[in-house]
Amino acid sequence: MSLIKINPDKCVSCFQCARVCPVHAIRVTVGIEHPEIDDNRCIGCGTCIRACSYDAITYRSSTEYTKELLKSEQKVAAIVDPSISGEFPDITDYRKFVEMIRALGFEYVNEVSFGVDLVARAYQKHFDDFKGKYYLTANCPAIVAFVEKFHPALVDNLATIVSPMIATAMVVRRVFGQDTKIVYIGPCIATKNEAELFKDDQKVDAALTFNELRQLFDEFEIHESQLEFSEFDPPIGFKGSLYPVSNGFLQAAGINEKLLDGKIVTVDGDPHSLDAVESFENYIDHIQKHFNLFYDKGCVMGPGMTHGGDKHLRDSLVVDYANKRLKNLDLNKWHEEMAKFSDLNLTRTFKKDDQRLELPDENKVQEILKLLGKDEISEQKSCSACGFKTCNHFATAIAQGISRTDMCYDFTLKNKTNYIATLRDTNKKISDELGGLKAELKTRKEELDLVNDKMETSRYILNQIPSGVIVVDEKLKVISSNRGFIELLGEEARMIDDIIPGLRGADLKTLVPVAFYKVFQNVLSSGENILSRDVKVEESFLNLSVFSIKKNKIVGGIVRDMFSPEVRNEQIIHRVTEVIDQNLGMVQKIGFLLGEGASKTEAMLNSIIQLHQKKKEG
Ligand code: SF4
Ligand code: SF4
Repeated sequence: MSLIKINPDKCVSCFQCARVCPVHAIRVTVGIEHPEIDDNRCIGCGTCIRACSYDAITYRSSTEYTKELLKSEQKVAAIVDPSISGEFPDITDYRKFVEMIRALGFEYVNEVSFGVDLVARAYQKHFDDFKGKYYLTANCPAIVAFVEKFHPALVDNLATIVSPMIATAMVVRRVFGQDTKIVYIGPCIATKNEAELFKDDQKVDAALTFNELRQLFDEFEIHESQLEFSEFDPPIGFKGSLYPVSNGFLQAAGINEKLLDGKIVTVDGDPHSLDAVESFENYIDHIQKHFNLFYDKGCVMGPGMTHGGDKHLRDSLVVDYANKRLKNLDLNKWHEEMAKFSDLNLTRTFKKDDQRLELPDENKVQEILKLLGKDEISEQKSCSACGFKTCNHFATAIAQGISRTDMCYDFTLKNKTNYIATLRDTNKKISDELGGLKAELKTRKEELDLVNDKMETSRYILNQIPSGVIVVDEKLKVISSNRGFIELLGEEARMIDDIIPGLRGADLKTLVPVAFYKVFQNVLSSGENILSRDVKVEESFLNLSVFSIKKNKIVGGIVRDMFSPEVRNEQIIHRVTEVIDQNLGMVQKIGFLLGEGASKTEAMLNSIIQLHQKKKEG
């Protein structure tokens, strides 16, 4: 199970964790939204947890398993790191937190400082027995993992001595029985992985951080005020209680660290402790000292402690605690106990776990540097924003697929600057076009207002015409109609008009009978006007004049009710005039015919008379 996890629901993809991870175990690759942790490369230092401002990174919890152990029939011992005094400044006396831990259900509560004393003695012997080989101390599990994974050539230089946690587990088992379950409580998260490496009498069943211990106190509502004092179970530690502060381990071991004649140098804190491993690998023949290394600046600043504590305050709390403990220490008893456990086999082994990535093709790295816009000088430098020592390392990491170009501020900034310039240009163009559009819009609006005015006027004029007026399109949909037309159609049309003024869009076929709209259809298809066509619609008698406005597209019609008094009078006059005119015509024709007949009769009579007279004279 992974030691470190990123919660995608909380992660905002700021990639700060990837920038600070000292071994680049957090990948930021193209196409992924959140960073990814490579468990194999992770050394459990916890730097990413402290760097994440969004609490998106968590470590494997051991609280549930610890609760299970405490509920079981097994004897469970808590072995407590001496840095506990730095974590709980709020608890006035260390004997109170011993009793609080017992209140959780632990049968035994022991100090890891006795394990520190044993391990310190083992180191003292080891360094005294110098045979020309220099060693790295192996007390810090993050440092051990770093050597195994990234400097495997130095695995043989790790001192083969167990950590104080494992030494204490061995002591407790020997004292309380091999079946005793052991829960380590400390400031470190890498111990969770370390605990899984050992078995039998070296086994640690669970490793709780102080933060997890606080959670358990809260969950079980255990408070200092409710409890009496209680002492740690023996054996009691001596100077091992100074272990959490820088150099505390060497003091416990009584090892001289002086520059002139010291055999050992202590380096702690990130990045110095990791850089020291590199120096050891490259220059140990010149340095000629053992290296005592801790990833954190003293265990009091470990990632399992409450976030953001002050190192100096914690150091002083640890020293106060050590003084308090030493005041009442029975030194003879301590020597006795140390002698009793002198036969414990504190040796251990290490194994190479090479996690270094293969170096990519140099041409590819150069291509990436070019893309990033880096020249030869900047290749050797870095602003470190990407999390790599130089631009070259960064380009190598991109080629290896563990980082990507947008992790470079400089590159991103340049891209952003170009992007902003393009945006500015585009904005200007848009704004110019917008100006043109606004002017165009103004003209169109003025035209539209004019058209609306004209239409309003037309509608007014149309409504003043007593006859019905209607204009339809090629689909016989009403374009416009006037009040006269609506009145002719009756109540239903008036209701439609209330909702859609002028019946605009209504289908003429649904408004009038077939005989009526057929006239419009004819004019639409033929383009020929039909004037003064009478159409009988139910009880009404309508007179229709339909004319083409736009050939085959738009036709208009004037409709008159022949029974309305004005039309009737007008029609009567029109029709009487028409009849008189016709009669007159006929009369004229008859007259003409009659006139012609009379003159022909007269001529015939005259010739008969003349013929008769000639006969008489003859
Ligand atoms: S630091 Fe936290 S928020 Fe930022 S990328 Fe890493 S996990 Fe996500
Ligand atoms: S715990 Fe350390 S090594 Fe592991 S991912 Fe976080 S920063 Fe990297």
